[in-house]
Amino acid sequence: MSTRNLSLNLGTVRRQWSLREAVEACARHGYAGAAPWRDQVAETGVAEAARIFKANGIRVTGYCRGGMFAALDEPGRLAAIDENRRMVDEAAALGAECIVMIGGGLPEGSRDIAAARRMFADGVAAVLPHARACGVALALEPLHPMYAADRGCISTLAEVNDLCDALGDGVGIAVDVYHVWWDPDLAGQIARAGGRIIAHHICDWLVPTRHLLTDRGMMGDGVIDLAGIRAMVERAGYRGLQEVEIFSEDWWNRPGDEVLTTARERFDSLCQAPRS
Ligand code: ZN
Repeated sequence: MSTRNLSLNLGTVRRQWSLREAVEACARHGYAGAAPWRDQVAETGVAEAARIFKANGIRVTGYCRGGMFAALDEPGRLAAIDENRRMVDEAAALGAECIVMIGGGLPEGSRDIAAARRMFADGVAAVLPHARACGVALALEPLHPMYAADRGCISTLAEVNDLCDALGDGVGIAVDVYHVWWDPDLAGQIARAGGRIIAHHICDWLVPTRHLLTDRGMMGDGVIDLAGIRAMVERAGYRGLQEVEIFSEDWWNRPGDEVLTTARERFDSLCQAPRS
């Protein structure tokens, strides 16, 4: 079954289920992986969460969400670096395949997005030695530019490819279709990323989109060429799981089992890479 290719980002069912309930549902529905958020792991306890994933045979395809290094002053920047190092320890305990890192927004009152981007690069570089020592990969995730001010000053795959060039081993890229589908250079930058792609997130872009954060679509309900993007990442060498990540008032209000069943059906019918 192609469901063995699927992972579930646990933010998708955060209103319906606890971490334990969600992981048990993943196993029941034949999903091979799951990606928890830090607050979900904190609520359960790191050691207990690790036991739950293991007992259910569920891979941890990512741990959400680090990065966000930009701050007004040096103590703020150092605190963010410390926080990310603690997250590396938690990811190692969970057996997570990577930490997902986002750019973070501009510090309050700042109009200097270039400085925020530099602080992100410096922050990743500062955490990287600890991540390497712990065997935890850092997956840099560009966010759609609509988030540049408040959560993701890193917007394009070209930027994260450049960062990976500069930082070397231990960093990779999370390709989330929601954030990058519009990029005119998508195919070129995915090909350039090659083996650096260590996470692939799927959902859909609704027209119209009614809320910037909580109106992601189920695969097939929007305009993203999911089969085409899957073909690109697999041509680039990606062999990992396809992680369903849908933050949506609509889907949060449906039974969790319906969400998992629908995602599996849509994936089977719409996300199959055409034979090349
Ligand atoms: Zn994502």
